[in-house]
Amino acid sequence: MAFSFSAIEILPSLLNKTKCQTIRPLPKNGIPRTKVGSVHKLFWKQRSKYPLFCRKCGNQIHTRIHNCLFPLNETKLAFPKLLGTGTITEVFEIEMWVGNDAPLIKGYRLQDTYELARRDGFLPGDDGKYRGFYDYFMRYDLSTPKRFVVYRWEWD
Ligand SMILES: [Zn+2]
Repeated sequence: MAFSFSAIEILPSLLNKTKCQTIRPLPKNGIPRTKVGSVHKLFWKQRSKYPLFCRKCGNQIHTRIHNCLFPLNETKLAFPKLLGTGTITEVFEIEMWVGNDAPLIKGYRLQDTYELARRDGFLPGDDGKYRGFYDYFMRYDLSTPKRFVVYRWEWD
């Protein structure tokens, strides 16, 4: 099995392998996509037809001209779409819905949510809040509580 990522906010934490978790909507059949102990390939933009991507902007490198690469050379900034493999260590459900202006997680205090955001590869802002994490989940309809699965892994 595999997980694919495409959010530029979490690319640095994928590249340095501090990201060790992903949160995905619970599948319609109510069964998480994987179990503890299974090994997963971790991809950047798995479906892209290009094999190399830019560390800086996350876009595919498919021409000789790529603005981010200048003046550095290509080998320094390019990375392959297969980031590595990970063995799943934890799988659990959470329930999220939108509060006044930010997602809330059932049973989680603010610090718990921040810890979840940190493991997910997001960085705090100057105010210590994980605005990027909140913004990311606002893409879902959270007007009613929505179930997600948290998958955690150890990089192999
Ligand atoms: Zn770039």
